[in-house]
Amino acid sequence: MLKTLPWLKSVQRNQHSRGFANGLIMVDAPRGNMSEHGVEGVQGHLHLENGRCIMSNPPVTPTERLYKIVQDGMCVGCGLCQSIAGPDTIRVARVENGYERPVVTGTLDHETMDRIEDVCPGKRLEGLPPELQNANTQMDMVWGPYQSMALAYATDPEVRFKGSKGGVLTALGQYLIDTKKVVFILHVKQSGTYATFGERHESHSAADVLDGAGSRYGPAAPLVDVLEVLDRGQPFAFVGKPCDISALRNLARHDPRVNELVKYWLTPVCGGFMPPQDMTRFLRQKYDVENEALTEYRFRGHGCPGKMRFATKDGEAQEFRYTDFWGTDQSMWTLPFRCKVCPDGIGEAADIAASDTWPGGSPDPSTEDDDLGTNAVIARTKAGLDLLNAAQEAGYVTVENECNPRYLDEVQPHQTKKKLAVLARFEGLRAEGHTVPRAVGLRLDELKATLSDEDYKWQFDGARERVRVGKASEPTPKLWERQ
Ligand SMILES: Cc1cc2nc3c(=O)[nH]c(=O)nc-3n(C[C@H](O)[C@H](O)[C@H](O)COP(=O)(O)OP(=O)(O)OC[C@H]3O[C@@H](n4cnc5c(N)ncnc54)[C@H](O)[C@@H]3O)c2cc1C
Ligand code: SF4
Ligand code: SF4
Repeated sequence: MLKTLPWLKSVQRNQHSRGFANGLIMVDAPRGNMSEHGVEGVQGHLHLENGRCIMSNPPVTPTERLYKIVQDGMCVGCGLCQSIAGPDTIRVARVENGYERPVVTGTLDHETMDRIEDVCPGKRLEGLPPELQNANTQMDMVWGPYQSMALAYATDPEVRFKGSKGGVLTALGQYLIDTKKVVFILHVKQSGTYATFGERHESHSAADVLDGAGSRYGPAAPLVDVLEVLDRGQPFAFVGKPCDISALRNLARHDPRVNELVKYWLTPVCGGFMPPQDMTRFLRQKYDVENEALTEYRFRGHGCPGKMRFATKDGEAQEFRYTDFWGTDQSMWTLPFRCKVCPDGIGEAADIAASDTWPGGSPDPSTEDDDLGTNAVIARTKAGLDLLNAAQEAGYVTVENECNPRYLDEVQPHQTKKKLAVLARFEGLRAEGHTVPRAVGLRLDELKATLSDEDYKWQFDGARERVRVGKASEPTPKLWERQ
């Protein structure tokens, strides 16, 4: 009976997924013509069990399509889908598992979902656009395109002190505002609702930029209203995590205003943030404090990395070390699943990416009190290099000396390791029917080719196993309600 359906392409044995033993049905049902079986716009497969469709992949309804990104652990919580669909249709907000995720609150249609899938960094990522590369661009297989790599810090001691590492991103933002090269900086500050979260913020003065200094290791959605920001027609600089930068670059392929108005693209090199459930556990177990009781949470800055600090509504304040929170090496880091398979934590699509410089990737608690803070700064484009040079000339940034990709391997071993392994991980996820973003211009095939067969299998099998035991998935997002 199935073979007579017009949208049916072929019937295959399902070799991979367990639990869907009966078949994988390939379909090609055009959009705009709902079949009697409710299948419309699906070019993919349906899992049948005893002849009944128990799951479609890709999902069938617009809401299912959006939630599949979340359920497969690929949402980074950037907020862009809210801006595309409008806040009456999608809200990117805190959901029951603690993350900021999109929740459909109105009527979402397939056309809007098509646009979202094209720009969502859970579905598509791209390295530096080719038109931003030129004869001076050097290419490192791991660290991507760059025009210079140097050690640098903010010249103003206050900025260097308050900045996350050496304060370079803040100093560059201040330079851009003071010299009126942009009208504002779109970046992230502590959230006014949940102190461990970040919140999109526009800084219009150098003091405001400084107020947003410091890494925020919690959810932050800087792009929730970026279309409205573009509507105002004012030039600005964007500072966001590499996945936020990818989202905005994706948007630039559809909306010419992005490249007209986003004059500078700046990013911290990023290994991921603290999953909210682990944040809650940390606060409860160590300090008997609930997240909701906090009025302030500083993750970094005020030294390098500086003491973490929180304050509560009833006036309690605590300070502790970065390594009390993150541990003393990368094996102790707890991260969102998406960050474990991130193909670009190094900000390949930014003009400038700024990283930490601790050998081995973590600060040494015995020496960190004396560290004044120095960034490794990767200028990837001509605009980035010109900005760094101009900010140095104007006295905002001090550039100490050059560095190179192999130095970055030493201070960022986790980034190098992940970059080499990421395609094997993606292929493991794909084998389990999981969503994996399309990665364009990130050299993932060449990087994969450097893995030994044994390492490839380890990474591939590890990713599959994570899907099987449920560590690669998230529940359907539901808005969190305060108890
Ligand atoms: C989630 C996260 C993970 C990180 N992982 C790594 C890593 O693996 N390796 C490494 O070398 N360094 C990592 N860092 C630290 C980062 O490298 C330093 O923050 C960077 O070197 C910039 O230092 P700075 O002193 O110039 O920053 P600052 O001058 O303090 O400026 C930081 C800027 O980043 C913005 N910002 C802070 N948090 C967020 C956020 N969550 N989302 C969007 N924008 C934000 C702020 O608004 C500010 O404009 C991470 C930072 C973050 C936020
Ligand atoms: S990654 Fe961004 S655009 Fe994609 S679903 Fe999540 S919040 Fe929306
Ligand atoms: S590790 Fe990648 S996915 Fe995770 S927050 Fe950083 S850039 Fe985004």
